[in-house]
Amino acid sequence: MKLTALIIEDEKNIRDFISTSLSTQNYKAVTAFTGTEGLSLFTSIQPDIVLLDLGLPDLDGIQLIQKIREWSSTPIIVISARTRERDKVLALDTGADDYIVKPFGSKELFARMRTALRHSNRLNTTSPLYNRPYHAKDLTIDFERHLVTLGEKEIHLTQVEFKIVALLARNSGKVMTYDNIMSEIWGPYTDTNNRILRVNMANIRRKMEENPGEPVYILTEIGIGYRMLEDDISG
Ligand code: CA
Repeated sequence: MKLTALIIEDEKNIRDFISTSLSTQNYKAVTAFTGTEGLSLFTSIQPDIVLLDLGLPDLDGIQLIQKIREWSSTPIIVISARTRERDKVLALDTGADDYIVKPFGSKELFARMRTALRHSNRLNTTSPLYNRPYHAKDLTIDFERHLVTLGEKEIHLTQVEFKIVALLARNSGKVMTYDNIMSEIWGPYTDTNNRILRVNMANIRRKMEENPGEPVYILTEIGIGYRMLEDDISG
């Protein structure tokens, strides 16, 4: 069964590049030139995933993310020439699943799409993937038993540390912004200062990473947030 990808992009070259690349994979590509057209196609075809440019002729991609997120959790990957951290953070905090900077290769695009699609399955609480343990390299996280092991060794995390690790693991492969993590762990009205998160992260890395200075499992996206190594489960 083919998955449908909606590409909302006003640059013809990029639109063609993406739809040609996708047609070599298991995707059916549908394209839109403007935001308005994109939104109306989104409603009528209900795609499995959206690839969205931010600089559109009629409206800003951010507005489109807002509109889609009012009623849909379909994965959205932003593909933009905007490289500033604050643009990425804004798109992610508005509800985009990932962010790719132009120019990009098709391999990177496919990998991000796979992650976003898997992620939307994993976060569906009715999916069997939801409670399946996270596993990558030597690290295993059993969500139900609150158990974290590195090889044979059990890692003892505080309750807050476990919540952070579990949140990132359930979203593995995907970048989570500082604000996003802060509000999930400490509530939506928490301090905007992310020092408490960074302190917890330092402790987590000391316990979980062989070399906390060069983390393997939880990577820092400078100025944006954290991305946990994608888990091994397939499908
Ligand atoms: Ca554009």
